[in-house]
Amino acid sequence: MHSPSTPSQAVVIGAGLGGLAAAMRLGAKGYRVTVIDRLDQPGGRGSSITRGGHRFDLGPTIVTVPQTLRALWAACGRDFDRDVALVPMDPFYEIRWPDGSTFTARQDEGAMRAEVARLAPGDLAGYDRFLRDAEVRYRVGYEGLGRRPMHRLADLVKVLPVFGLLRADRSVYAHAARRVRDARLRFALSFHPLFIGGDPFHVTSMYILVSHLEKAFGVHYAQGGVQAIARAMVGVIEDQGGRVLMNSEADAILAEGGRAAGVRLADGRVLRAEVVVSNADPGWTYDHLLRDLPRRRWTPARLARARWSMGLFVWYFGTRGTRGLWPDAGHHTILVGPRYAEHVRDIFIRGRLAEDMSLYVHRPSVTDPGVAPAGGDTFYALAPVPHLGHDNGVDWAARAEPYRQAVQRVLEERLLPGLGAHLTESLVFTPETFRDRYLSPLGAGFSIEPRILQSAWFRPHNISEELPGLYLAGAGTHPGAGVPGVLGTAEVLAQLVPDAPVPARDLRLAAE
Ligand SMILES: Cc1cc2nc3c(=O)[nH]c(=O)nc-3n(C[C@H](O)[C@H](O)[C@H](O)COP(=O)(O)OP(=O)(O)OC[C@H]3O[C@@H](n4cnc5c(N)ncnc54)[C@H](O)[C@@H]3O)c2cc1C
Repeated sequence: MHSPSTPSQAVVIGAGLGGLAAAMRLGAKGYRVTVIDRLDQPGGRGSSITRGGHRFDLGPTIVTVPQTLRALWAACGRDFDRDVALVPMDPFYEIRWPDGSTFTARQDEGAMRAEVARLAPGDLAGYDRFLRDAEVRYRVGYEGLGRRPMHRLADLVKVLPVFGLLRADRSVYAHAARRVRDARLRFALSFHPLFIGGDPFHVTSMYILVSHLEKAFGVHYAQGGVQAIARAMVGVIEDQGGRVLMNSEADAILAEGGRAAGVRLADGRVLRAEVVVSNADPGWTYDHLLRDLPRRRWTPARLARARWSMGLFVWYFGTRGTRGLWPDAGHHTILVGPRYAEHVRDIFIRGRLAEDMSLYVHRPSVTDPGVAPAGGDTFYALAPVPHLGHDNGVDWAARAEPYRQAVQRVLEERLLPGLGAHLTESLVFTPETFRDRYLSPLGAGFSIEPRILQSAWFRPHNISEELPGLYLAGAGTHPGAGVPGVLGTAEVLAQLVPDAPVPARDLRLAAE
């Protein structure tokens, strides 16, 4: 059998966590991998920016299912725990409502049941049942479906009866509402899809599995932030003989003889490869990078009809002289606004920037004092907002600063009194930043929304429907967004890419 004389080349467009994980897995399969990214740091949404001694982790802050990372490293013959330090969080996070009531989420089952009993003793039995439901959906949805290719219709047809049985057509919120009556508990058991870009009132109830993930495997913080995970991934790729080129933008995926043949960069350079992986958003991949080829499934019209996840407004800020101040503000706090269902409707359906807001507040300096100068703190406050595709689009050039001030007011009233007097650094990301920085269609925070008819087989496939030799990794493909999700996309992709043929020289050496 003929073997090439040099290793097979693979190019990965995008050094997001999905792209880096795909590169590691391709390296383990024998490919010589080049990763390119237009940003100056690896990690994509998981990268960080340092200003005035404050390290701002731009995106993911909660690491769940750490065994997904360990499995990725093990597939490359490496030990994750030698490269990255994960710190288990206790408590996980605190939810605070406008009426002053709170719910502290922890791994300990007794502590969680005590919290439920404190808020609504009558809901305890329903809560126990909800957790059992979550575990079943974890086994089916995460361990089963989420780690397997779903690009053949037959794969989907096989799971439909189980989906029917588990009432996957119901939303996460509807499922929580069937089990508990207290409005606060309904929130606490159903808000999780917002962290992967889904509307809890429409996303399939399979996603209640997140409650099981948290309980079974904990919530963790990566020392050095998720950026440290991305850097460690780059280290593995380089040890495999691959390279990661930052400040390098792909302009087009090249095809020859009906197959992917490489990538043309924006500066005109061409990287030839037998395997091309796009970690760019599938919308950008099919609308822009593949614009010279006719597309059958992911046409511009079809992408325009897709429902996209919401946008995000993120205010990153530093404070001085605050260490020890604000004891109510732990590492992770969720400040729930006065409305839930109607607010979510404003964001996802009406596309309206509401006056009221719910915020997720990140204060990593509680766990990792090195993220801020001595005596200070590093924060971000995140508000879900409409993406840029609604008819009544938000003019962020005009609205960003007033909205930031509104966020500051809510923080001062509810969590960080006197904040204004301590502020140092300040940086704002709007959906327009997401559009321009990550080339994210409509500035969506998490790519295509994970509704049932946009999940699994319905999502852009990990093995491209449009061009042989092209594969997809990242939030917009199967299984979806979130750190474990995008690592899962690389795991699925690796099952679809053939092993690299062994170069003739290596075969000769092995025979000697
Ligand atoms: C604010 C925020 C908070 C989050 N919190 C959490 C959390 O706590 N826990 C969790 O699990 N998940 C969280 N997530 C979700 C998670 O971060 C993402 O789903 C995941 O990181 C996305 O990874 P990805 O590989 O799909 O892509 P991305 O991170 O988007 O990376 C794609 C990369 O491709 C590059 N690129 C695109 N086009 C090109 C091109 N043409 N040429 C070169 N490079 C290109 C981009 O520059 C980018 O670096 C959060 C996300 C955000 C935004």
